[in-house]
Amino acid sequence: MIDSDLLQLVNTHPHQTAVIIGGGAAGIFAAIQVKEKNPSLHVIVLEKSAVFLSKVRISGGGRCNVTHSCFDPQQLVKFYPRGFKELLGPFHTFQPKDTISWYEERGALLKVEKDGRMFPTTNQSQTIINTLMQEVSRLGIHLVGCEPATAISKEEDLFHIQLKNERLLLCRSIMLATGSSSQGLLLAESLGHSLEKSVPSLFTFNLPSASLLHLSGVSVPHARVSLPHMKQSYEGPLLITHFGLSGPAVLKLSAWSAKELYAAEYKTEVRVNWAPHLTLEEVKEDLFKWKKKKPSTTVELLALYDLPKSLWKHLTQPWEGKILSHLSLKDMELLSQRACQDTYQMEGKTTHKEEFVTCGGVKLNEVNFKTMESKKTPGLFFGGEVLNIDGITGGFNFQNAWTTGYIAGLSMACSVREKSLGE
Ligand SMILES: Cc1cc2nc3c(=O)[nH]c(=O)nc-3n(C[C@H](O)[C@H](O)[C@H](O)COP(=O)(O)OP(=O)(O)OC[C@H]3O[C@@H](n4cnc5c(N)ncnc54)[C@H](O)[C@@H]3O)c2cc1C
Repeated sequence: MIDSDLLQLVNTHPHQTAVIIGGGAAGIFAAIQVKEKNPSLHVIVLEKSAVFLSKVRISGGGRCNVTHSCFDPQQLVKFYPRGFKELLGPFHTFQPKDTISWYEERGALLKVEKDGRMFPTTNQSQTIINTLMQEVSRLGIHLVGCEPATAISKEEDLFHIQLKNERLLLCRSIMLATGSSSQGLLLAESLGHSLEKSVPSLFTFNLPSASLLHLSGVSVPHARVSLPHMKQSYEGPLLITHFGLSGPAVLKLSAWSAKELYAAEYKTEVRVNWAPHLTLEEVKEDLFKWKKKKPSTTVELLALYDLPKSLWKHLTQPWEGKILSHLSLKDMELLSQRACQDTYQMEGKTTHKEEFVTCGGVKLNEVNFKTMESKKTPGLFFGGEVLNIDGITGGFNFQNAWTTGYIAGLSMACSVREKSLGE
């Protein structure tokens, strides 16, 4: 809870106070920028739980996938199903290169993995937390835990933040960095913003009746997964699980089709092309060639397209024991379909590695992305997941928090200074 002396101090100087609601990645990063840019301000971070940066701690399986080694803003935005248009400008101000330098200048070295994900070299999210917390204490930022903001109103040029026990905190500049919490979204709504409905993103597909579940653990390096009713498809590594399908191709598809899948209650047709570089006709041609070349080979021994043996055996199961010369035209048509258009019924979803990412939040056209200031309520800023922005898995969600937090922090520092100079 906020110390009564601090409360009294800032309430006597509300014009020199910037308050950030939410002590996650976006809020803490923004607070550091405000104080660094304008050390004379009182900077307060209100956090409803007792712990700051709790998602950073558990992120990336405890390793914290801080960012992604993609340094071209035009390419980077392609990893954001929501926010790709709006983030282009902000990424010219603060992008993964800047994240890397920011942490490295403070002694937290990052390393890149084969797939582009970046982690601290220590493989511990605590390194990131320590770096941020060192800055917080060096700069004298006030972190106040167990202090939820329950209501906010703006009266003349001051924000009135309602705290527990009917206490009130006043300030000139405020940031909502409340992540996907419904309380934060309600606060945004109360300050004049409209919301895009929150729905899950980044999940795996449940295919309970799929005949391939016995192959759980089998993966293929490259397949195409499609949702024909939603006209969406993605290529990439694919993993068969106890429940259905997972892996980067599925996660990407879940993010880009998050809203449509939610509307369909996660019940739809899923199609896999196990040989994504080929069409149905091309696979059929291949089968003809092999029939001529190795007529007495049994179909399950053919093992085409570098697919795992167990998967090929599954795909050819209806023709088990049949030699190629005995395959009819119809057989070859059906086998090509299984290879290129293997179709299953999705009946639900499963959260990926407990990574509950939601899309939805404050509508993006109501925010000025040059400053992260509200177009509805001047003096109100946003950053991180409270906005209707989400990236696919790979460090993109934290990069959104760093980028929008950075810009919001600098703008808050300048906006309070300009206002207090004008007094
Ligand atoms: C298990 C897991 C693993 C993840 N791993 C990765 C990863 O490796 N890489 C990656 O890029 N992304 C990852 N993500 C996503 C990433 O954690 C989020 O995108 C990121 O934390 C969003 O930061 P934020 O500051 O916007 O929100 P949050 O981190 O959610 O912080 C918001 C804070 O606001 C507080 N708050 C809410 N309402 C109030 C209120 N009224 N008053 C005061 N405080 C309030 C909350 O308690 C919370 O602490 C992961 C997510 C999860 C769940």
